[in-house]
Amino acid sequence: MKFYSLNRQSDPVSFKEACIRGQAPDKGLYFPERIPLLSDQLKANLRSISNEAIALEVIRPYIGNSIPDNVLRQIVEETVNFDIPLVAVTESVSSLELFHGPTLAFKDVGARFMSRCLGYFSREEKNKIVVLVATSGDTGGAVAHGFYGVEGVDVVILYPSGKVSSVQEKQLTALGKNIHALEVQGSFDDCQQMVKQAFADDELRAKRFLTSANSINVARWLPQQFYYFFALKQWPQDAAAPVFSVPSGNFGNICAGILAHLSGLPARHFLAACNANDVVPRFLQSQDYQPRQAIATISNAMDVGNPSNFIRILELFHQEFSSLTEKLSSCSISDDETRATIRRVYQEYDYLLDPHGAVGFLALERYLQAHPDSQGILLETAHPVKFYDVVEPLIGEKVPLPNAVKEIMQLPKKSTLMPANYDALKEFLFSYSA
Ligand SMILES: *Cc1c(COP(=O)(O)O)cnc(C)c1O
Repeated sequence: MKFYSLNRQSDPVSFKEACIRGQAPDKGLYFPERIPLLSDQLKANLRSISNEAIALEVIRPYIGNSIPDNVLRQIVEETVNFDIPLVAVTESVSSLELFHGPTLAFKDVGARFMSRCLGYFSREEKNKIVVLVATSGDTGGAVAHGFYGVEGVDVVILYPSGKVSSVQEKQLTALGKNIHALEVQGSFDDCQQMVKQAFADDELRAKRFLTSANSINVARWLPQQFYYFFALKQWPQDAAAPVFSVPSGNFGNICAGILAHLSGLPARHFLAACNANDVVPRFLQSQDYQPRQAIATISNAMDVGNPSNFIRILELFHQEFSSLTEKLSSCSISDDETRATIRRVYQEYDYLLDPHGAVGFLALERYLQAHPDSQGILLETAHPVKFYDVVEPLIGEKVPLPNAVKEIMQLPKKSTLMPANYDALKEFLFSYSA
């Protein structure tokens, strides 16, 4: 399988090239040249096949010759080796809990898959690959855990000092080994600016093999299809195809779901649940796409003003607006509605949502009111304890820390304090011994 650039100025490349580069030289996103169709056997036997076998069959066609079968099997096994249960919340809504991985958010799956692929590709490189990434909180932890201990790859994470939660900071800084945390005395924007400058610095790139672990990377995007199959595997056999509600920011997760559907996954509809950042809901009403500055909300992993993956969704529907809106709806939920939903669902159904999941839950409830013959699956993208400062006051209770987090909270923080200027980063990248 080849991947072409959506800007169509660069040449198509293999999965390996797309994974190492992240973005095409023409700055376009990579997109598969065709959409593979699932075997009837997989569709018929979904319930009796292991998660590993499902994942392998789904991802195999995209990888081509880039990774041999035995290695790919190992990568997939390590990617999906935690629970992804489907839990009934109400009569018509079930929650697919994607937060049982090491950093308690769904990004663990994509980060693990990408890290293992890159680790495999690095064996053919003379120099270590350095993954450079700026984080506002969640991505950094998933990337740190995904790449921890992966041979041939070093990770350098920039995060804004004092602006990530204590759990998030420990997830970034406590691991050590091949994970280097730079605590930048500035904002997330400063961190991102420093990373951008590094990628544009030819002198640096001549000495260090830099790549990013950005969420647009095909190796993070494609494995997200797995969730939707694992959901259906647990869906009642005689029930009609579900509506999937996906809390959306950069639209990578929902785009993977739609891709899975076009490969043959049964789904009645997709619902992109957004917070106040409503570029896509507006577009679906007006056909006018107007990117904006992101607005800060309590579901902060979805604070995106110009969702990068939306262009992939348009491509999946061949830019045809009517076929797009037949499969995809979107709505915007305010912070007040999000808080009220967390409180109500906890009281009425004894189920604790995180702010992102609450956005998805309310969006789904509204959709099902208008389509009473349907049932839906909410993708619960993060554990509520990650957002305890929002959630605990709403329910008047403490949320207990899961064991994975308790352990990491006891480890010492290891970070390098750095002023928010590029020269300091450059010096670090030249000097530390990889
Ligand atoms: C990243 C993230 C999202 C948004 O996912 P996209 O693929 O960017 O749309 C939603 N919820 C949580 C908890 C996240 O970390």
